[in-house]
Amino acid sequence: MQTVEQTMKDTAGKAWAKRPLIISGPCSAETEEQVLQTAQRLAATGKVDILRAGIWKPRTKPGMFEGIGVKGLPWLLQAKKQTGLPTTVEVATGKQVQDALNFDVDVLWIGARTTVNPFSVQEVADALRGVDVPVLIKNPINPDLELWTGAVERVARSGIKQIGLIHRGFSSYGNTEFRNAPMWHLAIEMKRRNPELLLINDPSHICGRRDILMDVAQKAIDLDFDGLMIESHIDPDNAWSDAKQQVTPEKLAEMLDNIKWRHETAEEKEFITALEKLREQINHLDDELIQLLGQRMKIADKIGEYKKNNNVTILQTSRWNQILDRAFKKGDALGLSREFITKYFDAVHMESINHQNKIMNS
Ligand code: PEP
Ligand code: MN
Repeated sequence: MQTVEQTMKDTAGKAWAKRPLIISGPCSAETEEQVLQTAQRLAATGKVDILRAGIWKPRTKPGMFEGIGVKGLPWLLQAKKQTGLPTTVEVATGKQVQDALNFDVDVLWIGARTTVNPFSVQEVADALRGVDVPVLIKNPINPDLELWTGAVERVARSGIKQIGLIHRGFSSYGNTEFRNAPMWHLAIEMKRRNPELLLINDPSHICGRRDILMDVAQKAIDLDFDGLMIESHIDPDNAWSDAKQQVTPEKLAEMLDNIKWRHETAEEKEFITALEKLREQINHLDDELIQLLGQRMKIADKIGEYKKNNNVTILQTSRWNQILDRAFKKGDALGLSREFITKYFDAVHMESINHQNKIMNS
C-alpha cells in the first residue's frame, strides 16, 4: 500500500518531468479562500501542472505586502489535497525551507532577489542538505550568468538532484517596454552551458503587465524553453501584489490554447537557437549603438550652445577632416571599408549639424 505522501511525491515527480511544464498560481497567497479558489479554477483548466504561490514576498519597499507567512502554508496543503496539484513556493532563508517542507511543499524556488546574494543562497542550500526536493532557481536581478551559475552550484553541492532554471528577465534602469528586460541571449547561453537543466520562462515578471504576456510566452516556446510560470489570480486587479501582470485562470487557459507549440526536428531547433542567439547579439549591439548616438548628439547640442555663445560657425572643415581621418584609421584596423566609414560619418555629421542648427536658431 502506498502512503498518501508517496502518491503525492510520485505526482510531483511526474509533473516535474512533463513538457511543457506549466506552473501557475497567484503572485501571493492572500486568503484561504483566494488560494483554494485559484487552485480549483486552475485545476479545472486541466492545463496546469504545479500550483505556485508566494508565501514570503521580498518587496522593493517596506510597507508593501510582504507575504502572509507560515499561516498560508496550510492553505496550500489544503489546495493540493483538493486538486491533486503539487505546490511550489519561494524560499529565501533556511527557516523558510524548513517551514515549506513541514507543510509538504513539493517544489521550492529561489527568487531573483535571493539568487543575487551568495550568503542567502548558501543558507538555503545548507537547509536543503539531505532533502530530496526539486529546486527552481530564478536568474539574479542583474544580468550576471556567473551569479546564476553560482547559485546552481551551491544548491547542487548540497545534494539536490532535480534543479531547474527560471528566466524572469533582468532589471535595468529607466522605463522600458518590460518590467524586467528578457535579454533572451543570456537565457539561451545559460541553457547552452547547462543542457541537462530544466529551463522555464516567467513571462509575468518579464512583462509586468498583462497585454504582452502572450508575446513573451510564445517567444519562450519558440526558443525551446521547457515550460512557463505565469501568475494567475481570481481577481487580478485587486491582487495584493503584482496586480497588473496577473490573469484569471480562465484567461491563462485561453493564452495556453493560443500558443503555437512547436515540434521541430532536433537539427531545426539547433539551427533556430543558434540563429536567434546571433540575432539577439546584433539587437543588443544595435541598441548600444543607438544609445551612443543619442549621447553623441547631446554633446553636439552642447557644442552648438558654445558656438552660439561665442559666434562660431557650425561647420569647421578642418575639424571635420580630422574626424574622418581618425575614423579611417580605426576602421582600417577593423576591416571597415573607407566607403562605409564615409557614408556613416556623413549621416552622423548631418544629424549633428541639424542638432546644432536647432540650438543656434533657438
Ligand atoms: C515571484 O515569483 O512572485 C517573484 C517575487 O518573482 P522574482 O523573484 O522573479 O521577482
Ligand atoms: Mn509576483
